[in-house]
Amino acid sequence: MEKIVLELKERYTKIFHELKELNHYLFENPELGLKEFKARDKHCELLSKYGFFVEKEYCGVETAFLANYVGEKPGPRIAYLAEYDALPEIGHGCGHNILGVSSSAAGILLREYVNIYGGEVLVIGTPAEETDGAKVAMAKAGAFDNVDIAITVHPTSGDYHLRSTSSQAMEALEFTFKGKTSHAAGSPHLGINALDGVITLFNTINALRQQILTTDRVHGIITKGGEAANIIPDLAVANFYVRSRNKKELDILLEKVLNCAKAAALSSGTKLEIRNYETSFLDLITNKKLMKIYEESLKEIGIKEIKDSEESGSTDAGDVSHICPTIHPYMPLYKNVISHSKKFAQSTIEDGAYKGMEEAVLAMVLTGIKLLKDQRLIDSVKLEFEKK
Ligand SMILES: [Zn+2]
Ligand SMILES: [Zn+2]
Repeated sequence: MEKIVLELKERYTKIFHELKELNHYLFENPELGLKEFKARDKHCELLSKYGFFVEKEYCGVETAFLANYVGEKPGPRIAYLAEYDALPEIGHGCGHNILGVSSSAAGILLREYVNIYGGEVLVIGTPAEETDGAKVAMAKAGAFDNVDIAITVHPTSGDYHLRSTSSQAMEALEFTFKGKTSHAAGSPHLGINALDGVITLFNTINALRQQILTTDRVHGIITKGGEAANIIPDLAVANFYVRSRNKKELDILLEKVLNCAKAAALSSGTKLEIRNYETSFLDLITNKKLMKIYEESLKEIGIKEIKDSEESGSTDAGDVSHICPTIHPYMPLYKNVISHSKKFAQSTIEDGAYKGMEEAVLAMVLTGIKLLKDQRLIDSVKLEFEKK
């Protein structure tokens, strides 16, 4: 094994007890999106201990932070993105505890090499990935404008590191149908049934599924469906996520879904209101050159096989990838667990997770070192980004 890998491993071992402590603390204190005050403070505490300049409430987002360390010599700005929001009832069922800790760890370890080669290392705390996706607002506020490289590694079920591929562009739509109440048995003809609007919406969307791309996703729930069975509901609401491979395909799908809603309102005689109930996400464009550097780094630390990710979904990291070269690969928990479950959360504090985390952190840092050392690598990564 190369000298630098051994040196890195030694450095990682020295800080591991602090990483484990932080990960356990986050596991024990799960916080929902935009309420991650404890998580923000604990990350900032650790990073400032290791010499980072820390700014809380970064870009006007209360639970966001920026931690940066600037070398004496000029060079690239490499950012590791941390997440730390949890899920209601389930806790860290998406593993954002260990995701965030990995990014802070990579930042702390790369700092030594910024001293040698120059440049800057940033750890950016990005809240509410599961809901409002603060990266979107932060991107609009310029958080990633001067970043040369963005890396974030998400935990996943199974025994393999997975390549960063793409994520779906996504729109979160709330459909509110408004009608008129009436006694459902005594005078149904005087009522306008808002629930009919919602049910027709589901039926028309179900019919639409035959004519959409296999990569499109439309899925929803009814959040309000009436008060009592003997009252014609005057208000019914459904929340949907609409997803496609990219913005262009999403726009085509959205138009069809909106037509389904309009048809549902027309046939039920209800008034329709549509709004975004959460932030919309762009698709993730993986920088292949950057992914290759990360993959080679994994191989240098002894990982033999890396696989493609087969899962689909959306992430606010997508918006970052439209501003700077970005990768969002996956580290294994070395356990088969379903994402967004309590079992997944539990496995993020087990030995398998720490094995996956160590491998990911070492590869994240090795990638950083290569980029700090060689401007040509940065140039080639950026060239691919500009072309896209
Ligand atoms: Zn999740
Ligand atoms: Zn997640």
